[in-house]
Amino acid sequence: MTVRNHQPYDETNVFARILRGEIPCRRVHETEHALAFHDINPQAPVHVLVIPKGPYVSLADFTAHAPAELVAGFFRAVGETARMLGLEETGYRILANAGPHAHQEVPHLHVHIFGGRPLGPMLTRLPGN
Ligand code: AMP
Repeated sequence: MTVRNHQPYDETNVFARILRGEIPCRRVHETEHALAFHDINPQAPVHVLVIPKGPYVSLADFTAHAPAELVAGFFRAVGETARMLGLEETGYRILANAGPHAHQEVPHLHVHIFGGRPLGPMLTRLPGN
């Protein structure tokens, strides 16, 4: 287990296992720095996840600790993936959950790419907001 700033990285999380090839994924794109694959429980006609090839829990962890080459390579791969999915013209949304308020389920940084239909408002309004 790698520990940084009290943020433990769990080597057994499902995306670490996908990166190690221990469980399959429906791959969309792969580079030296990133892997993109279809979400197992899609919430839009196109729902793809992009993950960096390194042990980072969140965007804050990643941008604070990853080498510049990996940070650039990862974000480049997110853009390439959106283009490869044919979403440039119609548009798409990217989203990265971090921590409990955002309901992050998998503790390995991932960017969701949603598209394929109009996506509605950015956030669901909660009572009292
Ligand atoms: P988050 O709530 O941002 O952590 O999202 C985690 C996402 O990972 C969810 O949308 C899940 O459907 C997705 N997911 C979990 N396990 C797998 C898997 N084995 N392959 C593809 N997507 C997965």
